[in-house]
This record gives sequence, structure tokens and C-alpha cells, in this order.
Amino acid sequence: MADLRIENADWLLTLDRERRILRDGAVAVADGKILAVGKTDEVARAHPAQRVISARGKVVTPGLVDSHIHTTFQMSRGLADEVGSKKFLFERMYPYEAALSEADALASIRLCVLELLKNGVTTFIDAGNYQPHLTAEVAGAAGMRCVVARSSFDVAASAMGVLPPSFIETTDQALERAEETVRRLHGSHGGRVHAWLQFRGLNNSTDRLIIELKRLADRHGVGVQTHACFARDTMESSRAKHGVTEIERLERLGVLDANVLLIHVGWATEAELSLLRQHDVKCVAAPSSSLHNAYGNIRQGHVPELLESGVAVGLGSDHASSGIVDLCQEMFLVAGGYKEVRTDPEAMPPERVLEMATLHGARCALRGDEIGALEVGRRADLALFDTARPEWQPLYNPVANLVYSATGKSVDTVIVDGRVLVEGGRALTLDEGAIIEEARRRAPGILAKTKLGDLVAPKWPVS
Ligand SMILES: [Zn+2]
Repeated sequence: MADLRIENADWLLTLDRERRILRDGAVAVADGKILAVGKTDEVARAHPAQRVISARGKVVTPGLVDSHIHTTFQMSRGLADEVGSKKFLFERMYPYEAALSEADALASIRLCVLELLKNGVTTFIDAGNYQPHLTAEVAGAAGMRCVVARSSFDVAASAMGVLPPSFIETTDQALERAEETVRRLHGSHGGRVHAWLQFRGLNNSTDRLIIELKRLADRHGVGVQTHACFARDTMESSRAKHGVTEIERLERLGVLDANVLLIHVGWATEAELSLLRQHDVKCVAAPSSSLHNAYGNIRQGHVPELLESGVAVGLGSDHASSGIVDLCQEMFLVAGGYKEVRTDPEAMPPERVLEMATLHGARCALRGDEIGALEVGRRADLALFDTARPEWQPLYNPVANLVYSATGKSVDTVIVDGRVLVEGGRALTLDEGAIIEEARRRAPGILAKTKLGDLVAPKWPVS
């Protein structure tokens, strides 16, 4: 007997090897795994279930994977508009992050997890923060799947700027705290929470920190992630200090590998792109953050070529400070962005974009065989989109509508490990009202601590 059957799906996008799309499709689930995928009459006959969910009028997809999100940045919306990379980091986001109390961070993480989940995300990779135990606790208790990491820096000042004093630690301290996070959190919450190593960026990390973090990742069988090539500034400071660009430096340190996740890679050179292919490095594109603050990741970027050559490129919403935390909208932006800058309408087809948000995201999370598709044996992570909404009309091709027309607002049901976490658009495992109330209550205090109030006030007279 199956635990759960989702049936009568108008359109079931399997993302399996053949990319089958099933009309009147069904999925049977047992012990958190997919037991069967097929036409409703066949699956219903073979797999009686304790609970049946009707997906009539729905498009069913694998749960979306947000491959790059800063959960502690959710309270930073509006704090970093109209600023370039250096100002963004050193005058806005680092001061914000340094000002967060543990209770502020918790409010931010809860708000972030709520928004991700309601928008159909079942797995996310947190970019690394100072409260990874809180991210693990909130996401784990909400029933989601995630990767967490403790943030590491060991160089206080670079050509990019000077870090807040509370971020500064020695290489040994950074390594010890990072490994402790992996020991404590990896595999927790029924295996849904993974913990990795992380260095926040190359310009604030010594060679030794990078090499040792990679060694720890290998020893613990986990991943290691960092931001790389995200702006002209980061590329130029790497050249000035190390004589090579960022990914070339990683190659020189001998750390490029299949368990390495590089975020952005927008400014990667031809030579760096070929290193990514050679070492099966995983990458993430984060279109809204580049579009919001003009980093040039789409204009300079090579996501279509990386995908064409078989490199895994996931999709990330990055942070609320660029506005959007909605993978559906990120899908539109990466598709539209590449078409626009290349004046090529075929530069980024919607099928390829949906693969980024599912199959490639699964590979980025180093769970390529477990999630990302609706196939027998994979974990039962699904999103059901309600097509009885104006933006879904008319519906000829669900992949096109999903990428070009839908937003996370049309997510009706979200399931992780066969457990229903969102139903009828309502989160079942998180108290939405309390989370929003807490965010509203804490915002003025956070703003006061950052001292950014004058900079982010409305530009027009308020009376
Ligand atoms: Zn980031």
C-alpha cells in the first residue's frame, strides 16, 4: 500500500531521461520515495494509497531547487538598491549582516524559508552564514531539504574593502568552526539537511583556508562552495593580488573538483570556462541579483555554453536584497536575459531553464540521483501549480507557461519526502502570520542598527 498518490494531473512534467510529459498523470509514494509514475488509471490500479490528492487542473513538476540563497539576508530587502558590487558588499550587506542578533537572524531565516516553500522550492542551498544551526533547524522542522554552511573569511582587508570586525577570524578558527558545523549538522533531520564547507569569496580567503576547506569537504564527503567571478571588481582584484583570475587561482591551488560549487561565474574567461568543464565543477546563475545591481553576469556570462557542454548550472535567487525570492521569476529572467543581451530568441529555451531549476539544481546540491526528477526511486519532492489562474490561460505548452507566465503565486501544493508542506497555497508547517508579524516588528530595529535609514528612505516626500 502506498502512503500517498497524486493523480489526475492535467500535465505531469517528469524531467526523466526522456523528458516525458504525461496527461492525466499520477505519482505513487511510499516511505518518502517515488514508487510509480504513469497514467492515473494504471498507477491507481497498481497502487492503492492511504491518501489521494487530486491534481486535476494542475501542472505537476519535481520540487524546485534554489541553488543559491542567503537565508539570513531576507530582512535586507531595500537596503542595497542602486549600488555596485563593492558598495553592495562592504557598505550595505556586511554591515547589515554584522548587525543581526540571533533573534534577527532567526526571523530572517523563517521569512526566507516561508517564501521559498510557498514558491515551490523543496531544496535550497544556503550560501553560508554565521547561524547555520538556525537555518538547519528552521528548514528541517518545516520539512524542507537544504544545504547549510558556516561562512568563512580569513583576510580582513582586500582591494574590495574591509570586513566588519565581528567577521574576522584566523584561518585555524575558521577551519575549526566550519568543520564543527559539518560534524553537527550534516545528515540531520532525517538526512534532509546537509552541511558543507564554504568560503564567502576568493578575495577574502587565503590559499591555506581554501586548500584546507577543500580537504575537509573531501574527508567528510560533502561539497564546498564560494562566490566566484561575480563582478569586474572581483576579477580585477584577483589579478592584482594573485596574478591570475579567480578560477585560475583555484586551479593553481588544486581544488577544482566535482564537489565544488561556484556561484555566479559571470565574469569567467574562456580559459576559466574550460577549467569548469574539465573538473566537472558545479555552477549557479543568479539572474535577479545581477540585474538588480548591474553586475554584468548575463552580458558577460556563458550559461548557454556551459549547459551545452554538460556543466551543471543551477539557478539561485541569491537574496531578498535584490527583491525576488521566486525561482519561477528567476527562470524568466535567465531566459529573457540571455535572449535580450544576445539578440537571439533561441539563446535559452524554456525546457533548458526548467532543467536548471530541477535536474541541474539537484546536481549542484550533490543529490543528482535523489531529487530533481519524478522517477521511480527518487525522493518524493513535488510542486503542484494551479492553472485555474488568468496568467496560465491559454495553456498549450506547460513548460513555456511555467517559465514565461507563472510566478510562485500559482503554487498550490508542495510535497517533500512524500509529506505535504503546502496545501491550497498555505504553508502547513510554518506559522505564516506569526513569521510576517515578527519580520515587521524587527525591521525598524535592524534598520537602526545598520544606520542605513537615510539612504533607504523613500525619495519622494512622505507626509
Ligand atoms: Zn550570494
